[in-house]
Amino acid sequence: MLPLNTFAKSIGKMPTEPIKVLGLKEALSGDFPSDQVGVFIGNDKLSVDFEALERAGFRAVIQSAESNLNTSPIPMIHSIRNSGVIAEGDVIRFKPSNGQVSVLYRRGANANSLFVTERCNSKCLMCSQPPRDDDDSWMVNEILGYVNLIDKDMSFLGITGGEPTLLENGLSDIILKCREHLPNTKLHILTNGRTFSNLHNVKRFDHAVNQVIWAIPLYSDLRHTHDYVVQAKDAYQETINGIYNLAESGHLIEIRFVLHKQTLDRLPMFAEFIYRNMPFVSHVALMGLEPMGYAKVNRDILWVDPADYAAELTDAAWYLENRGIITSIYNVPLCVLPKKAWPLAQKSISDWKNVYDPECDSCSVKDKCCGFFSSYGAAWKSRAIKSVGSDF
Ligand code: SF4
Repeated sequence: MLPLNTFAKSIGKMPTEPIKVLGLKEALSGDFPSDQVGVFIGNDKLSVDFEALERAGFRAVIQSAESNLNTSPIPMIHSIRNSGVIAEGDVIRFKPSNGQVSVLYRRGANANSLFVTERCNSKCLMCSQPPRDDDDSWMVNEILGYVNLIDKDMSFLGITGGEPTLLENGLSDIILKCREHLPNTKLHILTNGRTFSNLHNVKRFDHAVNQVIWAIPLYSDLRHTHDYVVQAKDAYQETINGIYNLAESGHLIEIRFVLHKQTLDRLPMFAEFIYRNMPFVSHVALMGLEPMGYAKVNRDILWVDPADYAAELTDAAWYLENRGIITSIYNVPLCVLPKKAWPLAQKSISDWKNVYDPECDSCSVKDKCCGFFSSYGAAWKSRAIKSVGSDF
């Protein structure tokens, strides 16, 4: 696990807007605008002509080790506390007030997302990113300013919040900007789908058909169960209407079902409900809990050892898959699942928050297993975690 934040010192007037970190050769290639590039020199202090870099129009220099300079002709980040956090190709933001360096895009990561808002119109019992009601519309402009710094060879880019559709035209602008700079990248947008119950909000994204997959959580086939999990009256009906409105306009849809005490009773019926009523969806993800945010607070009403639902989960996943609906199991380790489920189980956890248990060190399937969220601990550990031998 490589965190997304660290701290560093700076010299000169560092830019507060995001910059692309590039090695000298790539920086000189001209693929990215020099005034948005920070030249990464690692620990190589010997042969760098800072004045030449300043004359070439680069925005900053980034050096892992401590600098003994008092001034620099070009703003400089140095003394990076955890030097592994920043690498060539990343997009970073530096906060001069406290020296925090945040990685907004990491080259080569198994998942990258644009975090677009903290606001949300739901309050799900297990939300890993509890919403805040602050005005964070500034984030849209920041994102519009650095989408051009993301590598063009990305197959997928996530967009997450909060509830991204609350940005209305702001989200539309972000999608259009991605189309311009990342024409071959599919956008995977997490949304509760409720705003799409209004057709006007679907029309706003007509231009995004085939560019976007809308990933929408539906927690039950029953109205009252979904509304309870979401903690919002009428959420079920709004989400169902939103899904049909999107489908009617030709959008791609993924359905997400989170596995916990409040939802598991209906899992078999839910699978049948999707098959009977939404056979048009592109993908169904059946997901283990992320022990973060509200999920931690509500552990007692949510936690079920995955070993206790593994058989039922396997049946529901294959029920859908066998009927032509592509289905995945996320966030459930392989040793907890029957072998029959393994072809559907994905390495689903983003690598910046992915850890493994000491038990995994000797496991023969570690490279195929999702492992755990870094926030997991003894209270969230299945009794079935056990190293898998090569003869299994
Ligand atoms: S022991 Fe670890 S790596 Fe192996 S299947 Fe279980 S959780 Fe995955």
